[in-house]
Amino acid sequence: MIDEELLKILACPVCKTEVVLEGDRLVCVKCGLRYPIRDDIPVMLKEEAEPGPPPRKKGSA
Ligand SMILES: [Zn+2]
Repeated sequence: MIDEELLKILACPVCKTEVVLEGDRLVCVKCGLRYPIRDDIPVMLKEEAEPGPPPRKKGSA
């Protein structure tokens, strides 16, 4: 599991925006790119990310 402190310092390398944990991947709240987590290590590489819709903020799901 990804540590919350680690989540705070991680950012999308494309738009420098925060990412949130969604299932087993990290999603940029701005551009929606999905970064995989391998062996508990977030892979913050644009080349590894999959495009998708930006996540909804808490409470709206
Ligand atoms: Zn982004």
